[in-house]
Amino acid sequence: MFQIKRILVTGGAGFLGSHLCERLVDQGHDVICLDNFFTSQKSNVDHLLGRPNFELVRHDVTQPIWLEVDQIYNLACPASPGHYQYNAIKTIKTSVLGAIHVLGMAKRCRATVLQASTSEVYGDPEVHPQPESYRGNVNPIGPRACYDEGKRAAETLFMDYHRMNGVDVRIVRIFNTYGPRMHPFDGRVISNFIRQALEGEDITIFGDGSQTRSFCYRDDLIDGFVRMMNGPSDFVGPVNIGNPGEFTIGELAKMVIEMTGSKSQIVHRPLPADDPTRRRPDITLAQEKLGWQPQIPLEDGLAKTIDWFRSINLNHYRPPTPNF
Ligand code: NAD
Ligand code: UDP
Repeated sequence: MFQIKRILVTGGAGFLGSHLCERLVDQGHDVICLDNFFTSQKSNVDHLLGRPNFELVRHDVTQPIWLEVDQIYNLACPASPGHYQYNAIKTIKTSVLGAIHVLGMAKRCRATVLQASTSEVYGDPEVHPQPESYRGNVNPIGPRACYDEGKRAAETLFMDYHRMNGVDVRIVRIFNTYGPRMHPFDGRVISNFIRQALEGEDITIFGDGSQTRSFCYRDDLIDGFVRMMNGPSDFVGPVNIGNPGEFTIGELAKMVIEMTGSKSQIVHRPLPADDPTRRRPDITLAQEKLGWQPQIPLEDGLAKTIDWFRSINLNHYRPPTPNF
């Protein structure tokens, strides 16, 4: 039987958070969206503001907050390399203090709390594809460490609160996810390539373009999130949620040029330090435990994302950092 729950979504105004809020509000739950709007803006959720079961709170997760809830999705954290490296110390504080605050809340309220972790916990992987049992190859002192190690420490906190205090936790490791409402100036590869293609700018491939990523459409991801949150309490994860279809960045650039009909030229820029050379999720566990697998192939998801980028006015978006 359906039961209305009070649900907190931290980072709820962001790309994934706003879609999750929408899904939960449509299901009839009482949703609190909490965000400091570092990498997002209210327009991502303004269509929800009039709904009686939606509430928006401006708050920074590095500070404690007292709320009464049944479930918490912890998404607050800048996700794009340019954004999370802009203030590296703030990024690691957001992951670690944010985790401590939502775990404390979950412990007090006896809520279930889900952590939005990342494939970055595998670093530059030496095992391919990456199963959850792989412990990763992360540089703890490099420019990506504020994010990678912050997310790893958050996973540690989740497991320790679970073991020591019996908190009902869930950990999802998200692989590159894309779709409408990505910030057009977030510097991630799909948003960059589409914006560049539509504006007729050069398409910037970092390095020779042979590095790979596996791209998951946002609806598939949100579906995996909700299944994991409401799945059996003896399955806490971590579980990989991603699309195993693997593409080189060079292939992605060609697809975007073809699908947009753009005249943009491909140019090469230096590969950023510690950029992982390949990434593909092993999703056996998600298939077995959650009955989940992605439904939307890259070409279909890209078409929807390109349509959305065509529909927006870039002047309505503030770049979150000076050199996004
Ligand atoms: P996003 O940048 O659009 O969303 C993050 C949201 O968190 C933004 O609304 C931002 O303003 C908010 N935020 C940042 N710091 C905060 C703070 N200190 N207090 C309160 N709010 C804060 O990115 P996204 O792609 O929607 O990512 C959501 C979550 O999923 C992140 O935790 C990210 O690490 C994780 N993730 C995403 C991907 C992906 O490919 N999209 C991959 C792996 C993990
Ligand atoms: N990338 C690129 N051009 C861009 C932006 C990114 O070639 O304009 C590359 C980047 O170096 C990486 C891949 O695309 O190899 C994915 O980058 P993104 O920032 O989207 O995510 P992440 O590196 O965190 O997977």
